[in-house]
Amino acid sequence: MAFHTVSSNTGPDDLKVYNTLTRTKETFVPLDGRRVKIYACGPTVYDYAHIGNLRTYVFEDVLRRTLELKGYEVFHIMNVTDVGHLTSDADTGEDRVEMSASRRGESAWKTAEFFAEAFFKDIGTLNIKRPHVFPRATQHISEMIELVQRLERKGFTYVTSDGVYFDTSRFENYGELTGQEAETLLPGARIEPNPEKRNPRDFALWKLTPSGVARQMEWDSPWGRGFPGWHIECSSMAMKYLGDTMDIHCGGVDHMPIHHTNEIAQSEAATGKEFVRHWFHCNHMIVEGERMAKSLGNFITLSEVVAKEYPTQALRLTYLTSHYRSQQNFTWRSLDASQKNWESLVGVLQRVALAGGEDDAGLDELIESTRLRFLDAIYDDLNTPKALAAVFTFVKEVNKLLAERGVGRKGAQRISNLLVELDQILGLGLNEAIEDRRIPGEILDMIVRREEARRNGEYGVADDIRAELGKRGYIVEDTLEGPLVKRVPKPP
Ligand code: AMP
Ligand code: ZN
Repeated sequence: MAFHTVSSNTGPDDLKVYNTLTRTKETFVPLDGRRVKIYACGPTVYDYAHIGNLRTYVFEDVLRRTLELKGYEVFHIMNVTDVGHLTSDADTGEDRVEMSASRRGESAWKTAEFFAEAFFKDIGTLNIKRPHVFPRATQHISEMIELVQRLERKGFTYVTSDGVYFDTSRFENYGELTGQEAETLLPGARIEPNPEKRNPRDFALWKLTPSGVARQMEWDSPWGRGFPGWHIECSSMAMKYLGDTMDIHCGGVDHMPIHHTNEIAQSEAATGKEFVRHWFHCNHMIVEGERMAKSLGNFITLSEVVAKEYPTQALRLTYLTSHYRSQQNFTWRSLDASQKNWESLVGVLQRVALAGGEDDAGLDELIESTRLRFLDAIYDDLNTPKALAAVFTFVKEVNKLLAERGVGRKGAQRISNLLVELDQILGLGLNEAIEDRRIPGEILDMIVRREEARRNGEYGVADDIRAELGKRGYIVEDTLEGPLVKRVPKPP
């Protein structure tokens, strides 16, 4: 069953995105015109998300924002895995949520709820647009059982003493996503061979609660009391909300060889239709050469970044400095650099707000060429590093203009409009930062009067105004590009 055909009629404004399935950058065309159906594998809620996980979610967000900017109506689903994700990919080991709950000394339900809430908060903090639906695995057990029954009726399953398994030998294109040879064993399957499996690649659709084991999350099924396999969760929730075929399915690259490969097998076996037209995978964040992972204990959470007083926009900017298909090495130093760069973006917006001068004839051209360079980069497989290069060259040029000649009111407005427009993709909260730091009109008037005094050599007057500003809680810094006003931080 090979369903996919690569779209060919490309044009300059087309959005090209790499499709893992075809291993090519394809022009993205949604199945039904203007509506784009996206499924993203969500968190397994047994611990906090780490900043590696969040990298994947930020790039899924950049993809969504790009589609929306192009005028598509995006319907975005992200599941919450609150049961059934085992500690081993070979369908053995303990359930991560139940294990974490017993460590925390509370119920599995409470643990799942706690970490789901923490996750929602994290994605809000990183300015990730909230998916339209967050289906939870534990609320879709009957849909999962129905899907397993459907596969059973079609002869794709077999029952062992510990569960119901998918027979991968019955599915012709198994492993197509990563191009694995039918005979190769999957990495997870090599760990703990289960002698009852017909083929090491076969995977559990439903696991039976072993006798003598007390589980908190378990349900009755035609095969006995137990819980769903992790992969069937995503297939059933994806198909329930998006139909048999969806436009885009997202996740991190670690999901390609097992989780997504198995999702394809069971979904297409059940429906006989293509499950996903476009697979979008984000590469890993690494730390000292190793993948950032909860199991390796080398992970950093968003609250650690916040505790060190970095603006969270600096983390988001750090993600964007690498292409999503490349690995990204995390260092605190890169976060420092991003913090400076983010401040320079906010700084230029503040400076142009105070601008007084003549409009420059070359400004419109600079704005237009920046917009084009930015969009060309984004439409070319979300090339955020290249898009950021266009933005920072623009910032440099504007600062130069401010230092040399100043800009007029209209030009100032166009400069901030462009940055705010491009931020619809970047999501760096520029508008909010400006609102946050907005300076009241009377203070702006005082700054303008001080500038006039300085220009006229009335330094005593200028100093008095500065002192008065200080009393009202504002500091003025005289930079080459003009005055920069800041509110004096309130003592904690
Ligand atoms: P999990 O909660 O472990 O299922 O992971 C949530 C998402 O983060 C999945 O899409 C993973 O593929 C992805 N992911 C896991 N580790 C990393 C990492 N180090 N860098 C980027 N994404 C990751
Ligand atoms: Zn999934």
